[in-house]
Amino acid sequence: MKIMVNDLERQFLKYKDEYERKAIEVLRSGWYVLGNEVKSFEEEFAKYMGSKYCVGLASGLDALSLAFRVLNIGKDDEVIVQGNTYIASVMGITLNNATPVFVEPDKYHNIDIDKIEEKITDNTKAILVVHLYGQATNMDKIMELAAKYNLKVVEDCAQSHEAKYKNINTGTFGDIGCFSFYPSKNMGAFGDGGAIVTNDALLAKEISVLRNYGSEKRYHNKVIGVNSRLDEIQAGLLRVKLTHLKELNEERKNLSERYSKEIDNELIELPKVRKDSTSVWHQFVITTEYREELIEFLEENQISSLVHYPIPPHLSEAYQYLGLEKGDLPITEAYADKVLSIPLYNGMTNQEQDYVIKYLNKFELKK
Ligand SMILES: *Cc1c(COP(=O)(O)O)cnc(C)c1O
Repeated sequence: MKIMVNDLERQFLKYKDEYERKAIEVLRSGWYVLGNEVKSFEEEFAKYMGSKYCVGLASGLDALSLAFRVLNIGKDDEVIVQGNTYIASVMGITLNNATPVFVEPDKYHNIDIDKIEEKITDNTKAILVVHLYGQATNMDKIMELAAKYNLKVVEDCAQSHEAKYKNINTGTFGDIGCFSFYPSKNMGAFGDGGAIVTNDALLAKEISVLRNYGSEKRYHNKVIGVNSRLDEIQAGLLRVKLTHLKELNEERKNLSERYSKEIDNELIELPKVRKDSTSVWHQFVITTEYREELIEFLEENQISSLVHYPIPPHLSEAYQYLGLEKGDLPITEAYADKVLSIPLYNGMTNQEQDYVIKYLNKFELKK
């Protein structure tokens, strides 16, 4: 049996007829950018998440970079972020010429809330919270620090659509929640897409002006904006997907619970979920000292796996100018060497999961 780490065709096939109907409806409408589908999607997504406003955008990275921009975070400002995130989180900060200040992760792969305060300086303006791999961060502590030091809070929810902390959706705690709808995300479109949610009417307004060249009225440009519009087809397809998000996340949860119950190998450490948080299992991330051997063994048995992420942002070529070196973030770097995402996708069959579990349990070190 051949198992891919993710199989996007499966999630399409689950609701194929609904997606196809919607795509044809939009194609026949003759209106393709910023129309009724986007408007309806924004209303439905805001409501679903429990936020007042949503603005559809072209990507998750745009959501992050525009969020910092409308919060007036730029040159000479510092933004706190966990070291072990996807590099796009960091780019959202640095596209605004602000400086990322990295904090080590905890055992849940989220930012270690006990290590934030020591990194706060007079230049700190915001905390970027990343609900990595789908698990909600401890938001009580984040909001407490933000209030104490007068910091903005931006949430990177690219992997956490509908993950909750104390029963409240991620993305609705801070000033702005940023979402990606890249196809492989829990709520993926069929192309690129992104959005922000916020309860602040002014911030929502500013972002909706910026996404369209800085104009509210055509050819009247107030500021230098960008082109970051969610298109009608993606918005329409996302409206369909939103009606199934609960069951899609439920399915990932069931698959993950089964992995947690049945993977039993002393060489493999399983992911943990914090009390008060839920995970929507964007990835099922195991940890092992013997990653290269395990990847090879899985490959021999036609099971693919992926590392999220092998090079932490502070060691990537793009961020050499920050002057950080190997050894500066030892926990982050250790995770980069040990984490492995195993196959998990909507539409994964029992037999496929049996097969993956069997080989994970069979893995042993060669004598
Ligand atoms: C995917 C992702 C992004 C970027 O989203 P795009 O839509 O691909 O630009 C940002 N942050 C995290 C944590 C992500 O996983």
